[in-house]
Amino acid sequence: MKKFVCRDIGFACDFTAEGATVEELMPKIADHARVAHNMAQLDDATKAKVSAAIKDA
Ligand SMILES: [Zn+2]
Repeated sequence: MKKFVCRDIGFACDFTAEGATVEELMPKIADHARVAHNMAQLDDATKAKVSAAIKDA
């Protein structure tokens, strides 16, 4: 499993997401960013941060 913790990219936020693969996880993170952080799309810098923050769980 892959795990993402929103706080790891600097948000004061308790969101976490898990998925079997990064490909499964990314849409969940994008949805969360849109709803919770008002980011219509993840820009390249944010995507890079997200990728770096995804850990094996
Ligand atoms: Zn968040």
